[in-house]
Amino acid sequence: MSVFADDVVNFSSFLKMAYDFLAGREYLKKLKFKQGKKLISVVLGFSDIVFASEAIPVFPIRMESFNLNPYLVALNSVSSVLGWDLTSKVLGVLKQVDSRKIIDKIVDDIINAINEKYNEMNDLAVENGISSDFCYGIKGLYGMHLSKGKNVDASLYYTIRCSAFNKYHESIKPLVARQIWVDIPPRNIGNALEFVSNNITSAITQLEDITGSTITDNQLNKQFNLSNKIKKKYKTILYEISNSDFYPCNPATFAEILALLSITFQDYNSNNQRYLDNITNLENEMRERIRKGIGVDVSKMPRILLTPMFGGWEPKTQELLYEMGARTLYADWEILGLLEEINVSRNSNPIEEYGKFLINATNNGIGCDNDQLTSSYLNIAEKLGVDGIIFNQLFGCHSISNCYNMLREKVRQRLEIPITSINFNRIGENIEQIKTRLGAFTEILQ
Ligand code: SF4
Repeated sequence: MSVFADDVVNFSSFLKMAYDFLAGREYLKKLKFKQGKKLISVVLGFSDIVFASEAIPVFPIRMESFNLNPYLVALNSVSSVLGWDLTSKVLGVLKQVDSRKIIDKIVDDIINAINEKYNEMNDLAVENGISSDFCYGIKGLYGMHLSKGKNVDASLYYTIRCSAFNKYHESIKPLVARQIWVDIPPRNIGNALEFVSNNITSAITQLEDITGSTITDNQLNKQFNLSNKIKKKYKTILYEISNSDFYPCNPATFAEILALLSITFQDYNSNNQRYLDNITNLENEMRERIRKGIGVDVSKMPRILLTPMFGGWEPKTQELLYEMGARTLYADWEILGLLEEINVSRNSNPIEEYGKFLINATNNGIGCDNDQLTSSYLNIAEKLGVDGIIFNQLFGCHSISNCYNMLREKVRQRLEIPITSINFNRIGENIEQIKTRLGAFTEILQ
């Protein structure tokens, strides 16, 4: 049985979010064929201007068919009558009489379905000639576009610091109908804001061309506002709830929820209002459980920041850390500056404000040099008050993974908390080695 199953079955918002992710294919088909919506492929959480254009952003793996646990499918039907809240209560009752332990498998199945699909996308990319020397994240994204790129009307891409990533986007050109680029200058000097604002305007014009409708300042601000609310909730979970001595679930479940947030943040499961509702319910459910004393005392368990994980990581790590008495935190989007809010105050210029947001993320996270990026890791680790850092070094990454030595030195000088690195190439491949490494690391923390 999964260590997660016991308490996740009562988390309706988690199940709903997982369902929205895994059942994306049917949902997107409905939007595309019945409502005539345009689909735009996005990655890394850059979906705002797509929502504003009334097209549908999609992190491309969501166009795949996933093996859905039949209970989760049935739950979705029941939920349309009862609502998700009551549905998860029903599930909690059913669990008591579930002698075949089918419900226990719901969470395992969610996790396995996602992991298997990521590996499948990687294999597809390699079989079709992409160099196996690329990192897992890039191979996966290439595989996703190879598999379903024909279904999207365009891919929207923002330049980041990694040249391999930029090359990858060039390479998917034949796989999608159209590409929209937003070039962000690597430094905030000279006319950087004007440059990026022009590029956003050009991307908006191209989206308007695709959808046939105009994107107004009001639409942009409405979207930024929604997005800001989502980021606020995300930060509350990261900074407030994760810092509590009492968790609303076991720490492995908590890490699983953070991992799901991290994956789904990229396109808000193609529906930003629904995503806001889910993350709001998630926060409320967490608070309610804590208030009622339902959960786990984690005061003696050290908190470990595991990062970066957006380019691929071994999900088993959080379970291993839990078994070794530690809790895992994932905060990549915060480290990379993508949880910063966009100014929507009266008389602000939304394109310029979005430009400032992109420049800030570039300077501190996705586009900066190693010195600034390691400072960003350090600042967030300090703000989160973690007890240790595990740096995830990806095979094939010559960009972020190169930061490790500099980060280790800075952590030694400023934070004086333990730090270690683990290697990652493919899900499920290196578990014994990771286990040994984590064992030695957690011993230092005791
Ligand atoms: S993991 Fe490294 S190589 Fe892969 S996209 Fe990120 S920075 Fe680039």
